[in-house]
Amino acid sequence: MASSPAQAEFYQAVEEVLESLGPLLESEARYRDSGIIERMVEPERQIMFRIPWVDDKGKVQVNKGYRIEFNSALGPYKGGLRFHPSVNAGIIKFLGFEQIFKNALTGLAIGGGKGGANFNPKGRSDQEIMRFCQSFMNELYRHIGPTTDVPAGDIGVGAREIGYLFGQYKRLTGRYEGVLTGKGLLWGGSLVRKEATGYGCVYFAQNMLQAHADSLAGKTCLVSGAGNVAIYTIEKLYHLGARPVTCSDSTGTLYDCHGINLETLKQIKEERRGSLAEYLEEHPKAEFTPVEAYPEDGHAVWRYTADAAFPCATQNELTEADARALIGNGVRCISEGANMPSTPEAVEVFIAERIHYGPGKAANAGGVATSQLEMAQNASMQQWTFEQVDERLQQIMAGIYQRCSETAKAFDQPHNLVLGANVAGFRRVADAMLEQGVV
Ligand code: NDP
Repeated sequence: MASSPAQAEFYQAVEEVLESLGPLLESEARYRDSGIIERMVEPERQIMFRIPWVDDKGKVQVNKGYRIEFNSALGPYKGGLRFHPSVNAGIIKFLGFEQIFKNALTGLAIGGGKGGANFNPKGRSDQEIMRFCQSFMNELYRHIGPTTDVPAGDIGVGAREIGYLFGQYKRLTGRYEGVLTGKGLLWGGSLVRKEATGYGCVYFAQNMLQAHADSLAGKTCLVSGAGNVAIYTIEKLYHLGARPVTCSDSTGTLYDCHGINLETLKQIKEERRGSLAEYLEEHPKAEFTPVEAYPEDGHAVWRYTADAAFPCATQNELTEADARALIGNGVRCISEGANMPSTPEAVEVFIAERIHYGPGKAANAGGVATSQLEMAQNASMQQWTFEQVDERLQQIMAGIYQRCSETAKAFDQPHNLVLGANVAGFRRVADAMLEQGVV
């Protein structure tokens, strides 16, 4: 690790896990003396590659591509692809590391991996996106397969990109198989996969609240992000009788005291791929705060009065000052749809104040769990109904909450689901690694 000093997010993710593992390592020598930690922080394989493609003006563009196959103790590598200009080896490594424990927490047979490219899809035509995806797959195809490594979407990679990637995989290999998840419903996709991460994140919050004789009904909620996870978090919050009043994107934060109009949001983001500021054209009484007007120590989306908060945009989007503002404004429940959205200092505040806090690797595992259900449907050549998949998703999220909560209780820190998630996830992977020998 000391040879990768620039990988700040990766260090952050590893430190959080190792800190949680302290009490477990003290009490169980087999985890301490077997080199398991040293093996776990080192990816099994890291692939970095060039992605040359031609833009609409005929100019050759070159991006960097990554696939990190982190840990296969529990099953084929599984984890999304992120296309965003901020992508680098450290970001993909942190996401891959988190994915190991998240996937273990689902109780399903999936290992951890992650990939992506420093490509900015914003402002690119459909043709450019297609050419980029095809070039990305020209290298990736040789490393993936339905029983080895099964990528999915993440930031910047949705149904359109998965379609272009799948088409190129099929062309290169001549095989029609479940090598990607998040596929279109006409060609091997699963119902509920699109909604799964957002729905799952809300189910996790509901589980946390129910354990304390409370529910989401009637609660005012803050949501950040305006992409796949945020949109379906908002949708499920409405289903459960809550009122989501914010969302955000890379241009700013939107606040609508009547509740975010989901139809308008979907039109802007899913159909037009526009900016949230456009929401005001239909709802002039809503408030839009551009990024330039954010408080210096944090993010405008966390500065409204509410009962619960759902960070669903990106890593480190919720600072210590935001955490204190949230608690000061009445928030008592936080469920993370994004990966590592809260800084370590913010997490410390949540735990010290005994907030119902669901860390991303537990609360957002509904997406990858439903991806595994997509793999199961592909392998058995069946398609389950929306209700069947949604019911499985709810059971899986309840199981994840149970595992985290029981583990936290066993270590005398019942409110600390960070410890619960890290220890429960670690144990499952470590036990499998120990049984498989030093490989
Ligand atoms: P999308 O690309 O669909 O949406 C991302 C949203 O976050 C967009 O609104 C985007 O703004 C905003 N955003 C992204 N990066 C930044 C940034 N650096 N600064 C400000 N805003 C930003 O991605 P998803 O909704 O799929 O992913 C959101 C989060 O959820 C990520 O952390 C991802 O890793 C995590 N996640 C996703 C899963 C999935 O199934 N998709 C599964 C588990 C976790 P804009 O619209 O302006 O681009």
